[in-house]
Amino acid sequence: MKKRKRRIKKKPFILIFLIIIACTLVYYYFHTISKPSFKDKLADLGYSSKEVAIILDKIPEDDYQFIKKYNRSLINIINSKNYKEDCFRKYLEYYNKNTDADVNDIITIINSGYDLTKYKASSLLASLVSEKYYINKNVARYLDYSNSEKEVSRIISIVNSNADNDFYTNVKQSNLKDENLVLVNKFYHLPDKYEPNDLVTLTSKYNQGINSKMRKEAAEAFMKMVDGAMLDNIILKNSSAYRSYDYQVNLYDKYVKRDGKEKADIYSARPGYSEHQTGLCADINTINSSFANTKEAKWLAKNAYKYGFILRFPKDKEDVTGYKYEPWHYRYVGIKAAKIIYEENLTLEEYYAYYIDK
Ligand SMILES: [Zn+2]
Repeated sequence: MKKRKRRIKKKPFILIFLIIIACTLVYYYFHTISKPSFKDKLADLGYSSKEVAIILDKIPEDDYQFIKKYNRSLINIINSKNYKEDCFRKYLEYYNKNTDADVNDIITIINSGYDLTKYKASSLLASLVSEKYYINKNVARYLDYSNSEKEVSRIISIVNSNADNDFYTNVKQSNLKDENLVLVNKFYHLPDKYEPNDLVTLTSKYNQGINSKMRKEAAEAFMKMVDGAMLDNIILKNSSAYRSYDYQVNLYDKYVKRDGKEKADIYSARPGYSEHQTGLCADINTINSSFANTKEAKWLAKNAYKYGFILRFPKDKEDVTGYKYEPWHYRYVGIKAAKIIYEENLTLEEYYAYYIDK
């Protein structure tokens, strides 16, 4: 009786053992024996044995099903130095829609991580996504603007600054919550009759003009800068800082009467669109282009950022800012932003688009 019982108990173990053997065989079949059939398929499609080896090595098994015909570009894609295995399917899909494109451009565009597959693959698009200040929501406008401008970094500067639009079109209200970084230009205007609530008056040591007020933090930084310059025997004084809305109305009207609207718009802001109304900027010393060659202007260009000020309308960025070069006009943005703007050679428009608004 005892012996019989033991024999009965053994049966389930044998069954389990057989199942394991069967599973192992099935697994072995699909992973080892079935593989050569894909290899054979590739050979049948016309891939050389070298190409077959590359495909088996660099394409994920899940993606084998997407190889349906001989395609030399497929090998070029896999051999590119920027090829990423997990993007293979995306490269192939995008390539199939753009068979005349350079595979390296295809790879650059897909590797950017943005979904740009509805746009035609081109070296222009690949160059755009490779630029540091590329902003994806602007891509259609970059492509449009490439009809007017060939240099890729300039396309990005102009579009990020909205300057692909005509000035004073598509205007928006400035965001006052941006505080020291508030953007006021030919596309962003202050709320009606805006006046900062913390204006302070600069004393005669720092001022020589009738518009002698600035916002408190900007005024303190300005005084520090003037004191710092003095140590280098550089004398700086504000000539025009905060200007009210009504003041700008009179000023702009006077210029329009003298030179006409079109000319006045190049050097003067329309009321509500003047940065002077923010209380964050100052025209320093001489408001004249001859100021550029003075040692004071040179000192400012080199040192103002250390105090949180930027040259607001630089010489080589006139079509970005919409203003002629103004060597005397300095804008307070705070030290952190000023340093980036100075070191990366940006305007406030470009900085705002990339570092704040993006
Ligand atoms: Zn100014």
